[in-house]
Order: sequence, then structure tokens, then C-alpha cells
Amino acid sequence: MSCIFCEIVNGSSPARKIYEDDLIIGIMDTDPFCDGHILLIPKEHYEDVMELDEQVLAHINKIAKKLTPIIMQKLNKESMTVSYNFGVKQKVKHFHMHLLPNIDDDPKETVENIYNKLI
Ligand SMILES: [Zn+2]
Repeated sequence: MSCIFCEIVNGSSPARKIYEDDLIIGIMDTDPFCDGHILLIPKEHYEDVMELDEQVLAHINKIAKKLTPIIMQKLNKESMTVSYNFGVKQKVKHFHMHLLPNIDDDPKETVENIYNKLI
């Protein structure tokens, strides 16, 4: 069964990558809920948070905390919402965490523009 996030991790599908380390990648959401909508994705396939390794979850939280002030500063945002979905609200069945700057504002800029501000 193909998984879009596994394809992005192994390089067979493109993505705008803003962060990478041994365990996770951070990419721009292609259909953003707000400007600067970023996904943090474990490189290993875990269907959802119930499957997710505790140490990988701790690492993702650590990186979310580290990236939050950087993203807010670069995009000139006042707030950050960090979340993940579980169950029917989780569209891609490969765990991912959402970073949502100023979540109440509709997207105004192109993903490309935001990406260029972040890298
Ligand atoms: Zn996957």
C-alpha cells in the first residue's frame, strides 16, 4: 500500500522541506489551513499516535517547540497552534503533527512565498 508521506521521506514524491534530522522531516502543507502550515512527520511509518513510538513522539514535540519561535519570527505571527488528528479526522494514515501559526487567519500568501521566507 502506497503512502504519500513515506514517498516524500524516500524522495520519490516532492515536498517543500523546511526541516530534517535522523528521525523526522518538516514540510509545508500543500493545502494549508493558514499561512505557514507545517507538518512534522516521522521518517518511519506509524499509522497514528497509538502506534507511534514514545521516543519519536517526544522528539517531534521537542522539534515543534524548537521551531515554533523561529517560524513565528520569520513569518511575523503572534501565535502557534500545535496539533495532531486521530481517527476519521486523520486524512493521511501516517502520523503527522500540524504547526499552525495564527490558526484563525485564512491563507493569504502562496505556499511558495511562505517557503521562501522560512528557508
Ligand atoms: Zn507512511
